[in-house]
Amino acid sequence: MLNREELREIAKMRAGEAYFVSLYLNVNPITNKKYDYVIHVKNMIKETLEKMDKKEIKRTNGDFEKIDAYVMANKRIFKKGLVILTSQEKKFWVEFHLSVPIKNEIILDKTPYIKPLLDILDNYQRYAILLVDKESARLFIIHIGEIEEYTEVHSENVPGKHKKGGWYSLSEKSYERHTDYHVSLHLKEVVKQLDIFLSRENVGRLIIGGSEDAVTKVKALFPQTVNEKIIGTFQAEMFANSKEILKKTEPILRAFEKQKEDKTIEDLVTKAMKNENAVIGIENVLNAIQEGRIMKLIFIKDYRHSGLKCNNCGYLSIQHISACPYCKGKTQKVNYIVDLAAQKAVEQGALVEVTSDNKKFKDSGSIGAFLRF
Ligand SMILES: [Zn+2]
Repeated sequence: MLNREELREIAKMRAGEAYFVSLYLNVNPITNKKYDYVIHVKNMIKETLEKMDKKEIKRTNGDFEKIDAYVMANKRIFKKGLVILTSQEKKFWVEFHLSVPIKNEIILDKTPYIKPLLDILDNYQRYAILLVDKESARLFIIHIGEIEEYTEVHSENVPGKHKKGGWYSLSEKSYERHTDYHVSLHLKEVVKQLDIFLSRENVGRLIIGGSEDAVTKVKALFPQTVNEKIIGTFQAEMFANSKEILKKTEPILRAFEKQKEDKTIEDLVTKAMKNENAVIGIENVLNAIQEGRIMKLIFIKDYRHSGLKCNNCGYLSIQHISACPYCKGKTQKVNYIVDLAAQKAVEQGALVEVTSDNKKFKDSGSIGAFLRF
């Protein structure tokens, strides 16, 4: 899972003359019906190589070959977006599997190209989950529907020793005597570490779980800045696994996101009605995409629509046209025009937000967008 700390470390990599190849590939199975991305990645590599000189090619050839082989061999684990950052010269390779659409790109540079990944961190809300009792604490992050734990190997003797993820856990030994004093020390340390973690990772929302007593106690110790981030609490055992935690927090997340969505949709519908840089309905959205005006595309999760796609320039329409009005190219019927629209919007640098079912939104078209101009 993406995190700011890791990206920061990657961003610092800059090793004199070494080259990095950064690949961003749309591997969404809906818009790549026949594993089209296998061909896309080959073409992108070919185009990149054509622009490079002999020396550059010699030094990065291994990276391109490895990328090509990797895409061929790992289709089954792909989500919607695949990101690979590699430098054979530096013996460096890292991959990210994203469940959000991304724009196809290959960047050759002396540093890894991470801007799109930072944008994803900023644009899709992350939630921290703190699970706490009188002796221990665990921290999870939920991002784009996925959960990951920041665990730590228990250290034998050094309380509060940090690991890579930056979260902490005190050794069992420190708590041989469960006195109130130790409990309060522990909770204070949890609060301190959590505060550091939230600011470092820039996580805006927090959910707390554990025994009722521990939750109350730890909440009382939080500074105002942390308390403002809490969107809910739940009860759970300390040994609960990630899946159980995700299940317990789901209603809290859903309620919180629903509230946010309702506000966004209200805003969208009002602005569209007043013609203030917003549109609603598939046809208006497709026109706005064609004009490159989309800032943020929003649609209901299960919204589907069929239409036509120009085989030559990619123009999308729900009108019955026999030839593309822009390039006279041949059109083809498609059943997944919403996915194609989302991909196009992302390629124009727009954000895409998928909402849950919403009556008001459904009644006004199920899809809409805030526009740049
Ligand atoms: Zn066309």
